[in-house]
Amino acid sequence: METAFFSFKNHLLLLLLFSVLLLILTIHPLEAESEDAAIISRFQQYLQINTAQPSPQYQQSADFLISQAKSIGLEFQSIEFAQNKPLVLLKWPGSDPSLPSILLNSHTDVVPVEQHKWAHHPFGAHVDSDGNIFARGSQDMKCVGMQYLEAIRRLKSSGFHPLRSVYLSFVPDEEIGSRDGAKKFADSEIFNSMNVGIALDEGLASPSENYRTFYAERNPWWLVIKATGPPGHGAKLYDNSAIENLLKSVESIRRFRASQFDLVKAGLKAEGEVFSVNMVFLKAGTPSPTGFVMNLQPSEAEAGFDIRVPPTADPESLERQFAEEWAPISRNMTFQFKEKASIHDKFGRPMLTKTDSSNPWWILLEEAVRKANGKLSKPEIFPASTDARYIRERGLPAIGFSPMANTPILLHDHNEASV
Ligand SMILES: [Zn+2]
Repeated sequence: METAFFSFKNHLLLLLLFSVLLLILTIHPLEAESEDAAIISRFQQYLQINTAQPSPQYQQSADFLISQAKSIGLEFQSIEFAQNKPLVLLKWPGSDPSLPSILLNSHTDVVPVEQHKWAHHPFGAHVDSDGNIFARGSQDMKCVGMQYLEAIRRLKSSGFHPLRSVYLSFVPDEEIGSRDGAKKFADSEIFNSMNVGIALDEGLASPSENYRTFYAERNPWWLVIKATGPPGHGAKLYDNSAIENLLKSVESIRRFRASQFDLVKAGLKAEGEVFSVNMVFLKAGTPSPTGFVMNLQPSEAEAGFDIRVPPTADPESLERQFAEEWAPISRNMTFQFKEKASIHDKFGRPMLTKTDSSNPWWILLEEAVRKANGKLSKPEIFPASTDARYIRERGLPAIGFSPMANTPILLHDHNEASV
């Protein structure tokens, strides 16, 4: 079906688009020096807008993006799915609006900083003598949003006209779960009307020469297990105390964690292909004015786990494991989810974007990277979550791709930089 929509012009569009993304990072001909300086300066302006959670300057960021759209000549609108959280949607109309469109998504917010641990001001966008640009968001992911814009600026000024429409969405709140951002956007009438055929979103920098791509991601399941039992004197040994029962579960969860980690350490599986399980809280004890009562075994004990579930997992067998081994009724235990992201899309299929010859978009991406003298490593499952999940949930293909090779992974770190 999908291939019927393709034509040479479409191939060209993607080839150019992807190629230019790479060219921006890799080619610096002398005659383009002043153009390069202008590109860097625009990137710095975007980085200098403090969009750190929890109080991002979204309006300034929207104003900046709209000014870019005007200077490039793109259609623009600012949409608020939640008050004061503008989503900027830009459009480069294609000559055949009946064809599925291309969506280039990026989020405008960034994670907070511990300013005193930075060598340069995190919103100064300082460029050092090696050309490194220091700022929060320089990798995650204002660099990607700007690359989309600069690629289109270049294509447009070269006289290229796309056959398909190209949309750019600059969305808020990705770093706090996207409830008022990509989630509402992907559920909206506006999104339906865009008739998206393929989306690009964020990936990760690559310390090697190979660019990384992501075709799926792990799903967060936040599990709380709770044990109850009779309170007991601190001196008495007896069965079924809440803490004893909870600890039995903690032991089996730790064994499961180790078995998954062993697969990664042995090189048999990539990080995104296994379950990660990390305990995030442990709650028990009877408070007293000086701390905790020391001669009483408490009647309740709880533990919380951040579990990341690979897209190929069987959710039913997993829940069975929770009920039978991690929180069995036989040990007076219960469990509940604080978050349980769906593993399947709305058609009941695992949320994976094909990265083989059955997906013409993937073939185009591969070709474009090769033509720009780049190399790709094996496509991966993103270990955490991105906005791409809301697009894949709708059954649409999405690839995570932050074109940064030979770059240390510095997202969310002190001294985040584009190199
Ligand atoms: Zn990000």
